[in-house]
Amino acid sequence: CGIVGYVGHQSALDVVLDGLRRLEYRGYDSAGVAVVAGEELAVERKAGRLQNLETRLDEVGRDNFAGTVGMGHTRWATHGAPIDKNSHPHRDATNRVAVVHNGIIENFLALRAELEGLGVEMASDTDTETVAHLVAFAYAEGDTKGDLPASVRKVVRRLEGAFTLVFTHADEPDQVVAARRNSPLVVGVGENEYFVASDVAAFIAHTKEAVELGQDQMVVLTRSGYEVTDFDGEAAEAKPFTVNWDLSA
Ligand code: GLU
Repeated sequence: CGIVGYVGHQSALDVVLDGLRRLEYRGYDSAGVAVVAGEELAVERKAGRLQNLETRLDEVGRDNFAGTVGMGHTRWATHGAPIDKNSHPHRDATNRVAVVHNGIIENFLALRAELEGLGVEMASDTDTETVAHLVAFAYAEGDTKGDLPASVRKVVRRLEGAFTLVFTHADEPDQVVAARRNSPLVVGVGENEYFVASDVAAFIAHTKEAVELGQDQMVVLTRSGYEVTDFDGEAAEAKPFTVNWDLSA
């Protein structure tokens, strides 16, 4: 339902939670965050209000979420009940890849069967989780090994349906990768900080400069810039615009 991702110099947790609050008006049933903290992914998810997630973060200690790359999600369940284990972000079995997703992966049953054939045990009832495992496999081996954008490209080409997907990887502390089809994705362009979101409302407190991704486009964010490509990795044009909302209205 609502997505926000961040690469920069501020606390990713603070930026992401603030973004999720600004997306609350869209409605949701659960919320979660992931931050690349040192060499690990710090992840918490909670069913219910964003306040439940905030309380949980206070219980586990926000110190575990020190990092400047992260993302968050508010979920509107389509596949799997609105309970903690189905909340996003979803991860692969080794806890290295995290993904948040808006939309529906129509061919997830076939993908899940394929993964189960490889011995993967699903931790949730969602369509989304399959994507985390597929990207982890692509990142672990073959011609996409160690290359997160290439791994994501390889996987999104196989997906059917509607998706805005955002990925972080514990071994990639300097980037966020996102892709879209039939579901919106905007980039927020700051100074040495970049945002991705389902809606500009998530980042207008930080920047009014935005770029709207087109159909079947992907973006890689680092602290020094952003790069838009198609799902074949070819450079692609995306539409820049300035958000002119009057925030005092
Ligand atoms: N299909 C996914 C799920 O049910 C994403 C739902 C959403 O767009 O929030 O978990």
